[in-house]
Amino acid sequence: APTVGVLALQGDVREHVAALNACGAHAHGVRRPEELDAVDGLVIPGGESTTMWKLAAAFELLEPLRKQVAAGLPVYGSCAGMIMLADQVLDGAEGQQTVGGIDVTVRRNAFGRQVDSFEAPVEIRGLSGDPVEAVFIRAPWVESVGPQAEALGHVAHGQRAGRIVAVRQQRLLATSFHPELTGDTRIHQLFVDMVRGRQ
Ligand code: GLN
Repeated sequence: APTVGVLALQGDVREHVAALNACGAHAHGVRRPEELDAVDGLVIPGGESTTMWKLAAAFELLEPLRKQVAAGLPVYGSCAGMIMLADQVLDGAEGQQTVGGIDVTVRRNAFGRQVDSFEAPVEIRGLSGDPVEAVFIRAPWVESVGPQAEALGHVAHGQRAGRIVAVRQQRLLATSFHPELTGDTRIHQLFVDMVRGRQ
């Protein structure tokens, strides 16, 4: 089974570990640069991207993460994790840095502070079955997709129809929403398959 790390600086690490294990991976939390070298794939969970950036800097993980991304490590980022993988962030904190790697601009807290969380059906390219019932919590959206990246999923209908909320660039995957909270493991399965494909 592929070993998949879940960046354990902040956020709902345990839920991701459980979802990854359910998809046939061997998952565990990681927070040291040496631990990053030992995984076949990495998940960056939701949380708060400004806090995560500061913690990653304090733990001296930003450069090692950038190096792993450049070396082709498969990484999946959810919500704040999507922000961490984006090349550009709008409405970020002063000086906010990301790991980067996906050629997109994301807007932080884009759905508005009034609506802290909501669910919406999301259509994901290549995923069979019904749309994903996605859970959004103070989520970013993808404002624009550059030529290197691919829009993978959008809100299927309702008030926010058409909003891009899932993207992919080669071995990097990101969603605005939190599949680890729903029991629908198709996104984690997609990622574990990406990790397997690289092995
Ligand atoms: N609003 C958070 C941020 O800016 C993301 C929220 C989440 O990860 N659930 O990082």
